[in-house]
Amino acid sequence: MSSDAAAAVPRAPAASAAPRRIKELEVMVADVIVETPDTATLVFFTGNDRLDYAAGHFLTIDPHQFAALERFTAFLEDLKGRREPPRAYSMSSAPHERYLAVTVKEERYLSGATKYPPLLSPLLVKRTTRGMRLVVTGFTGPYTLAPDITARTNHVVHVCAGSGSVPNFSMLKFALAEHPALRHTLVYSNKGWGDVIFRDELASLAARHPDRLTVIHTLTRETDASVFGPNVRAGRIGLPLLREAIPEPDACCVYVCGPGISHWDVVAAKQAGTTPEPRFLESVVAQLGELGVPSARIKRESYG
Ligand SMILES: Cc1cc2nc3c(=O)[nH]c(=O)nc-3n(C[C@H](O)[C@H](O)[C@H](O)COP(=O)(O)OP(=O)(O)OC[C@H]3O[C@@H](n4cnc5c(N)ncnc54)[C@H](O)[C@@H]3O)c2cc1C
Repeated sequence: MSSDAAAAVPRAPAASAAPRRIKELEVMVADVIVETPDTATLVFFTGNDRLDYAAGHFLTIDPHQFAALERFTAFLEDLKGRREPPRAYSMSSAPHERYLAVTVKEERYLSGATKYPPLLSPLLVKRTTRGMRLVVTGFTGPYTLAPDITARTNHVVHVCAGSGSVPNFSMLKFALAEHPALRHTLVYSNKGWGDVIFRDELASLAARHPDRLTVIHTLTRETDASVFGPNVRAGRIGLPLLREAIPEPDACCVYVCGPGISHWDVVAAKQAGTTPEPRFLESVVAQLGELGVPSARIKRESYG
């Protein structure tokens, strides 16, 4: 799946992925780490020491395997007139780590705003327990560090919102361990301080690599003024912040991940005779263009 294809057909498994990597794996949930009120990391025991994936890759989980969802899945399939596809989840673990993990944010049903209640993420976040077995399929995706990344740049900029930090967290951990010539700036947008996924891990990575990692948080709805400081700003990601994070627009590589215009947004806009409003991903990519970052230096992944 190309990154743009990910935006167009969210939640579908990767059709164009390298087939040799794709296999079904039965895993056992070894731990469930509550990251924020609506986000949990599921740590999987796989029985394998080394798994063949790249930082930024995702796996897929088929909702049909869960007996607890059987009736709900069938009901949604009747309503939607299509089979529910597997959902994609990026690895929050990194290939050099000894465990496999995904980090899932629970989608909400907002009356009048969302057409259907979310199927899988509430179960993964709120009803998954240690010892539970499930089948995952992986690993694939185009949103990875280029193999020649160190020849292309020495500065990788990560621009993320919400659970869009998941693949970038994996890339950061991997690159800090394996690519000593690279330094990183993460610009990370969330609603509030309590919504920041990997908050402590990011702080400890930045403390361990003060010359190689800068983390700038930006909070759109935080009301507690005491959390703000040089690395915790108020508001949305905009041109001034991106300019600060990217001193050399034509020499860096930028990885952008977060909510983008989904397939359903496009369908709804078409029916209304309008065009879909740009979301986080489209806004950031447009601003990077204004800043002079060549499009060949921007990689993006949409969570739809
Ligand atoms: C490449 C990739 C990687 C991802 N990685 C992560 C990750 O690391 N962590 C994470 O939390 N999420 C990730 N996601 C998002 C994840 O795959 C799911 O989309 C998310 O968990 C929601 O799934 P769900 O089953 O809970 O909700 P869904 O049932 O898919 O519903 C989500 C929304 O889609 C709407 N919708 C669904 N079907 C229709 C329809 N037929 N018509 C109109 N609207 C519809 C619903 O109303 C709802 O608003 C990733 C997505 C992609 C594409």
